[in-house]
Amino acid sequence: MPVPGDPQPTPARVGVVGAGQLARMMGEVASDVGVELSVLATSEDDAAVATADHVVIGNPGDRHALESLAEGVDVVTFDHELVDLDLLEVLAREGITLRPDASALRFAVDKAYQRTRFAAHGLPVPRFVVVNSGSDPALDAFLAEQATAPVVKVARGGYDGRGVFFPERVADVAGLVDSLGTLVVVEERLELRGEVAQLVVRALDGSVAHYPLVSTVQSDGMCVEVRFPSDDPALAAPAAQLGHRVADLVGAIGIIAIELFVTDAGLVVNEVALRPHNTGHWTIEGAATDQFANHLRAVSGQALGSTEPVVEHAVMVNVVGADEPADPGAGRGVPGALVHDYGKAWRPGRKLGHVTAVGNDAAAARVTAWAGARAYGTRTREST
Ligand code: ADP
Repeated sequence: MPVPGDPQPTPARVGVVGAGQLARMMGEVASDVGVELSVLATSEDDAAVATADHVVIGNPGDRHALESLAEGVDVVTFDHELVDLDLLEVLAREGITLRPDASALRFAVDKAYQRTRFAAHGLPVPRFVVVNSGSDPALDAFLAEQATAPVVKVARGGYDGRGVFFPERVADVAGLVDSLGTLVVVEERLELRGEVAQLVVRALDGSVAHYPLVSTVQSDGMCVEVRFPSDDPALAAPAAQLGHRVADLVGAIGIIAIELFVTDAGLVVNEVALRPHNTGHWTIEGAATDQFANHLRAVSGQALGSTEPVVEHAVMVNVVGADEPADPGAGRGVPGALVHDYGKAWRPGRKLGHVTAVGNDAAAARVTAWAGARAYGTRTREST
């Protein structure tokens, strides 16, 4: 316990590239974990401006803006992966500490790199080929083996389903690749039994802790609902094992979110994100240390907090702007609905907040979370 008169420990100064809802939620817990938070925002309206201690306005692709952020902090971290890896290498050479660093971030920034490296290390990924032209012979050879049309993903710059294409016929793929005019991953379209997400957090000393596995529900390429515990308890152990393997290979400091496909042949890795993740928002109410606190602890060199759950069930539903303006207050009117409003201006299709419900009854938590999200005004709909 601090004794009056004792010097307060100096807060670690962490700078976040990006000032969206993830940085905002880091800001909500920063002082609890002894962190002073700065954010690089593109405008005063960004979601994290309200919770940050300091704000630098600038573009994440601008060297001077990144240097201004770095000047006032001990370590720089990220709330999105739309970053310029070459520029980050330059900053690292200037002595700026990046956690995760550019070599780790490449796994999240570049799907072609991720698939190639994971496959080389024996991690389960969909069968794939990387091409930038529809007439590449490697594409012909790959397509010849596909019974159903594969999925085409731009290697860089996609998110929330943007940059992911599901052509109807194998014959449409070459034209699609040419029309995209960039490096793409073409991969087998798997028959999914479901999707799950494994969050792990890696500390500066390389130790790794994993959160409980969750089930995720996607609609139009966007996550709409997350459930703890995951639907199939038998997947928890293999998912955690995969999580640790990915963490060791990627070598990132902080939260590592791994999206996994559930198939008849077992778990298959879809994506990694090296930052707090939508599938971990339930940890705010549901785990001993939430993902935002653990990310800040990790990147500031502190020991990790417990990732154990503190509730039996949690359901999180995203609130995505509908045609009518949203009203977080109406969501809060639903008993048991724990409403998180990101303070963003309403716009159809925009992620505005989320609603979590916890309790001993999985079905009741789901009903409450969805009732809260509907009252708030989400355009997403519960799947049955
Ligand atoms: P993003 O990077 O935009 O989030 P993802 O690669 O995660 O895109 O794909 C979005 C969604 O599309 C996934 O959650 C999944 O539902 C579906 N999907 C992606 N790849 C495949 C695949 N190979 N087979 C079947 N479905 C897929």
